Order: sequence, then C-alpha cells, then structure tokens
Amino acid sequence: MTSALMPTYNRADLAFERGEGVWLYTAEGRRFLDFASGIATISLGHAHPHLVRTITEQAARVMHVSNLYRVPEAERLAERLCAASFASQVFFCNSGAEANEGLIKLLRRAQAKSGHPERYRVICFDGAFHGRTLATLAATGNAKYLDGFGPEVDGFDHVPFGNLNALRDAIGPQTAGILCEPIQGEGGVRPADTAFLRGLRAAADEFGLFLAFDEVQTGMGRTGKLFAHEWSGVIPDAISTAKGIGGGFPLGAILAREELARHMTAGTHGTTFGGNPLACAAGNAVLDVILAPGFLEGVQQVAAHLHRRLAALAGAMPEVFGGPDSVRGMGLLAGIRANVPNTALQAAALAEGLLVVAAGDNVLRLLPPLIVTEAECDEAVARLGRAGQRVMEQGAEAFGAGYAGLPPVGAEAVVETVRS
Ligand SMILES: *Cc1c(COP(=O)(O)O)cnc(C)c1O
Repeated sequence: MTSALMPTYNRADLAFERGEGVWLYTAEGRRFLDFASGIATISLGHAHPHLVRTITEQAARVMHVSNLYRVPEAERLAERLCAASFASQVFFCNSGAEANEGLIKLLRRAQAKSGHPERYRVICFDGAFHGRTLATLAATGNAKYLDGFGPEVDGFDHVPFGNLNALRDAIGPQTAGILCEPIQGEGGVRPADTAFLRGLRAAADEFGLFLAFDEVQTGMGRTGKLFAHEWSGVIPDAISTAKGIGGGFPLGAILAREELARHMTAGTHGTTFGGNPLACAAGNAVLDVILAPGFLEGVQQVAAHLHRRLAALAGAMPEVFGGPDSVRGMGLLAGIRANVPNTALQAAALAEGLLVVAAGDNVLRLLPPLIVTEAECDEAVARLGRAGQRVMEQGAEAFGAGYAGLPPVGAEAVVETVRS
C-alpha cells in the first residue's frame, strides 16, 4: 500500500465511515465494536449528541482567537478541572506529548525560581511512555524509539517501575522531580501499587522534589475516578492529561498546584492552538457528561463487570489468555497478558469485528468508551473468545504479519527498555 502519508504507522487496511456509541462502520457497512476508543480518546463514544452539538454550535460562533485574548470556554474548563481535582491552575495544549513537555518545563522552572536552578533532572520509570517529542522520548527512555534521532535530550534518569529503593538511590542534587504513570498504559497496563505511589510522595517531600503524574491515558474518568491517582489518596504537585479530555477533539492539559504554576509567568510558555474556544467547548461537553452525578460510579460498575468477564474468559482459555490472573488494569483501562502473541490476538479480534489495542509485555488492551454498557462488554468478551478460538485453531502465525494496529508504540518495544 503506497501512500502520500509517511510510513510511520503500521495501519490495518481498514477505514471507517461513521461511528455511533461503541460501534464503528465501514463504507461497506461492516461494523466493529470499538474497544480501542482511538486509544483511550473517544471517552463518550462516537457521535455523542451533546458533544457533537456543542462542537457544531461553537464552530459556528468562533473556533479560534489565539491566546492574545481571553477565552471564556478555557477559563470555565480550567475552573471546573480545578474544582474537581487537587489543582489550582491549568495550562491547555493540544496533545499528551505537548502536555508532558510543558510539565517538564514546569518542574524545572518551579525549582529554578524557588532557589534551585541546579535541579533540572526528572526521574522516570522503565516501561514508561510519555510521548514522541525529543524531550518526552528521553523521558520515555526506550532505546528503540530513540534510534536515529540524534543525541538524547539530557535530564532524565530511569529506575525500575515499583522499586522505591532504586528511586531513592537515583535522587541527586540535580533532581527536580519524579514523573510517573499511575498505570503504565503503553507499557502493558501495569498499575503502580498504592504503597509505591505513597513512597514517591514521601521521597519527593523528603528531598524537596516535585511529584508529577502522567495521566494522559489514565485521566478523565478512564479508571472510574476523574484521575487515577485519586484511588491512591496521594496528592501530586502537577499532572498532565490529554487523550480522553476532548472526547476525540485534540486537547491536552497540565494541572498544577499554585506553588508551581505561579512561576509560569507571561511569556514563559505558550502555544498557538492550545486552549482555543473549539477545543475547550469539547472539553466542557465531555466534563458535562463525566462529572454528572453517578456517571463515574457507573463506569466503576461496568468496569467491574468487564474485569469479571475477562477473568472468566482467561480462566476458560488459559492456553490463549493466560488464566484468570492475567487480567490487569483498573476501570476501563483493562488488559490481558496473553499466552500467544498479542498482535495475533489483536488481528483475530479484528476479524471478529472487535477493535482492541496491543500494549507492551504482550498485553492486549481493552479501552471501551466510558459510556459502554455491560451488554456491550459481554459482546466484546464473546468476540474476544471467538478470536482466541481462531488463534488456537489456525495458529498465531496465521495472524502474525497482519494487523499491528498501532505505531510501534508499546507492543514489543517497551519490554526491551534498557537504561543506564
Ligand atoms: C498517549 C500517551 C502520551 C502521548 O500522547 P500524545 O497525544 O500521543 O502525544 C503520553 N503519555 C501517556 C501515558 C500516553 O498514554
């Protein structure tokens, strides 16, 4: 398949014409149950009436004005995010990587302006994923992604995920902060345990570091709380979020405590598109739904059902799905660590009309829209079971070279993460 697009992605030979709720349709009318959600992004499902109406009306009024002027939609979205979280101020941008770039700048700047210009390094974790810009690639620290892109941006140290002793050993006089995903998404749906997150907070407090969470994938209701760190009770100094925040419209954000945010004075950071009226209208529409009373409790309930059904499937087909203990994740960020290549299962699921996403550690990710029902979860698990059956009968090789679905994010690459 030659194309005028750069060959950066390993795409399935499949295009969708429209979507509705958890379903996507091709021009030929084939329908797919979407448990990929554009990689945890279509939080309200496809063509959600409130989101569509809001975007349409906002586009007809004013789409973009730049940050030379006040943007009431952005002010409102920021106020609502702060009211619902630990944060007191927000910076809007356009993507997860851009949010993390800004977050790293925030950590460095807040240290520099509170008397510690020497503190610029950030401790990150093996298996992390923080994005594809030069600095976030260095924060990700995956040798495969760095290949051919010149000298790695300086300022990132990596330690094993979950290892507090290694973390404390890595802290030095130049350390500014810690950047951690509450659940490593691309790395294989690997949750950090509560004791670990508490240990990060304690170490940060002891050494005067800032604690930042990358909630690009885990945030905005994905785990059944607005932000995944809420489950641990640990309060960060700053977080990044993106993916689900615009319900499919590109939008990212940095949320921070005032003590850090106050150093981001006029002229220190910026973006042309970030936080424009259209994107923030989308963000407000998403919040209207996910902050409505009972919505996140509903996500928790349907997620518990999905996890039970996945554990039952994995228990019934351990040769393929690895047994009941192979189910991991939180809320609607669910994973199964497969016993056959996850990419084969992903391809077989596609053949069964189910969209799922491969992740590192041979994990298959299920990331349905947050509006998914228990019945739709049952349907997905049934399709996944048939996909497993196909792989057993035809062999993984039959699906081997097929659909990788993702850019080589996560998948095989992340497990190979090696750091000095
Ligand atoms: C997807 C992701 C990113 C990068 O987001 P982009 O919008 O692709 O730049 C960063 N961090 C995490 C945890 C992610 O899942």
